[in-house]
Amino acid sequence: MHLNVETLALINGGQALVLALMLWFGTRDGSNLAVKGLRLRATALLLEAGADFVLAFDFKLSPLAVLLVGNTLNLSAQALTIVALRMVLDRNLRWREALVLGVAAWLGVTYFSIVHPDYLMRVLWGSCILTCNALLNITALWGGCRKRDTRAQCLLLWTYVLAIALMVWRNVSLWMLSAPPQGIGVPSTVNTIYVLLLGLQPLLASVGFLLLYNEILQRDLHDLARIDPLTGVINRLGLLEASEVLLARARARRESIGVLLIDADHFKSINDRFGHDDGDRVLLELVANIRRMLRTSDLVGRVGGEEFLVLSPSVKEADLLALAERIRIAVERTQFHIAGQSYALTVSIGAAIATADEPDMMGARRRADAALYDAKRAGRNCVKISAA
Ligand code: GH3
Ligand code: MG
Ligand code: MG
Repeated sequence: MHLNVETLALINGGQALVLALMLWFGTRDGSNLAVKGLRLRATALLLEAGADFVLAFDFKLSPLAVLLVGNTLNLSAQALTIVALRMVLDRNLRWREALVLGVAAWLGVTYFSIVHPDYLMRVLWGSCILTCNALLNITALWGGCRKRDTRAQCLLLWTYVLAIALMVWRNVSLWMLSAPPQGIGVPSTVNTIYVLLLGLQPLLASVGFLLLYNEILQRDLHDLARIDPLTGVINRLGLLEASEVLLARARARRESIGVLLIDADHFKSINDRFGHDDGDRVLLELVANIRRMLRTSDLVGRVGGEEFLVLSPSVKEADLLALAERIRIAVERTQFHIAGQSYALTVSIGAAIATADEPDMMGARRRADAALYDAKRAGRNCVKISAA
């Protein structure tokens, strides 16, 4: 069966145009980088649609005009897609590489059309550059196939792998023909299959871009729900989830988890003296101090107000007390700078050990709370541990 290449190009162009308009109007209200990436992809689709329409109406134009205008539109679309994808993924945009590849493709295609006309070489040159474009996109998406929560990224990666396979197949098929067609508009099975499959690409890539955007939004929402906006450490929900994971691991290894409840002493007086904004800055410095004392396997989260919880896996009582003491001393020795003055702050710390046999962390949390209360009653700026 021979489908008319012009008719296919017309259908592809119409499809790309509709997708471009949907993507453009559907993202009108957004302003972040990912949305800008989607809008740039919509612009690329418009250019792809233009290239398809040039091919569809090639009988009305001179062959040279079809070639130059069609390729310019197509190559610009490819360059914009490279940048658009990186905008959505928030990666290095690589404008320069995209531009260099586009110009190299255009010069090569023009050379093999006008200076030294050779259709097979023209297709080969264009395919090599388009493969480089696809590889650039694949490198941006690469990490996605190694993680479980980035399926859309991996899916989009595969559409670029298929695009490379299509180009390899096209070139091999053309070189193997005894009388290959001398233009993409010339009726032949290779051209028909190529244009047919090429027409699927805008659809696949657009769905891929949208799935990718959705995945990024989901991840952002997940993080927003678990990260304290002021200090950047995890909040109660994050702590709850993390403690379940840590406890499961501790059970499997028959180890215990250290719990520290850290509360700033007389914090209200800082707010009263310097105001809430300066109080916020002190909280940030306090978190930085706590973090500096932790191992990479330890976790700190904000329970609320000026109270923080540290979870320290695989520790015995003596190690936990030593860690708490290090944190207490680090805070005590820090000069907190507020409104041009330095201010000394101290913390009281309640410690407890959660054993592998405990059903959850609630018991250890309560014990750490009681120990913190003891520390406050003992005059503050000290560490107390609760009996298990
Ligand atoms: P104590 O030594 O008994 O812990 O005294 P305290 O003043 O630290 O304790 P209290 O619980 O009475 O006060 C805690 C204060 O922490 C009250 C509140 O204004 C302040 N606070 C809670 N959250 C924030 C915050 O996000 N930013 C700022 N700046 N202050 C906060
Ligand atoms: Mg306090
Ligand atoms: Mg408190």
